[in-house]
Amino acid sequence: MRPVVEFENVTKTYPGGVTAVSSVDLCIRAGELVAVVGPSGSGKSTMLHLMGTLDRPSAGRLTIDGHLVSTLSDRAISALRAQRIGFVFQQFHLAVGVPVLETVADGLLYAGVAVRERRRRAEEALSRVGLDQRMHHLPHQLSGGERQRAAIARAVIGRPALLLADEPTGNLDSASGAAVLELLRELHADGTTVVVITHDREMAHVLDRRVEMRDGQIVSDTGTTTTSEQTIARAGAGR
Ligand code: ADP
Repeated sequence: MRPVVEFENVTKTYPGGVTAVSSVDLCIRAGELVAVVGPSGSGKSTMLHLMGTLDRPSAGRLTIDGHLVSTLSDRAISALRAQRIGFVFQQFHLAVGVPVLETVADGLLYAGVAVRERRRRAEEALSRVGLDQRMHHLPHQLSGGERQRAAIARAVIGRPALLLADEPTGNLDSASGAAVLELLRELHADGTTVVVITHDREMAHVLDRRVEMRDGQIVSDTGTTTTSEQTIARAGAGR
């Protein structure tokens, strides 16, 4: 399967000198479902921000969906993010006072889709996450689990190559969290590449691949951290 995310010796240093991610190699291929775990401050969010092109590496090569991020203009990066990457956050981030159908439809705002079609696809996406009966509700009329499902519908409406979720069950009771996890697994089964940051051990254990971070480095990976080509290239370069 083709790589969707490729870190090659990637480092991210913040102004002030904190190295949040240090010389990381990681390859995530199309269709993988990956949990990023580790203690607070280990660099998980920074990894997700890099994968989501919300931040650029300080050093190393980062390739997202086949694009070498360092060669892209800000405009090209925004387009890549809008068209190929979906985000889900712990705090849902649904617009206050806006019916969820509108919020989900707005997920297609930058995809050049006409308004009627945006609405039709939003209805489809909300049905898919089990919210057929809640489309015209406002966020405050929904439970936490329903809000997160709406947020996932918004994230996947544009059929992103990569879905990034930052502690998606962090604010949910265990039953709602299980429903969200099930939904992520369904999206994965349909072929979406999903990367989830989680503190939730149970959740991490049922995901296919676990990447564990500590002090900005990957300390264990139940999948492969480098492609065989990279390993051979590094060996050839004397590393
Ligand atoms: P995690 O998500 O595992 O808690 P983070 O990626 O948020 O870890 O943080 C890794 C390290 O980088 C921490 O030491 C944190 O304080 C630091 N850090 C994160 N974001 C910034 C920032 N914008 N500016 C400076 N330091 C940051």
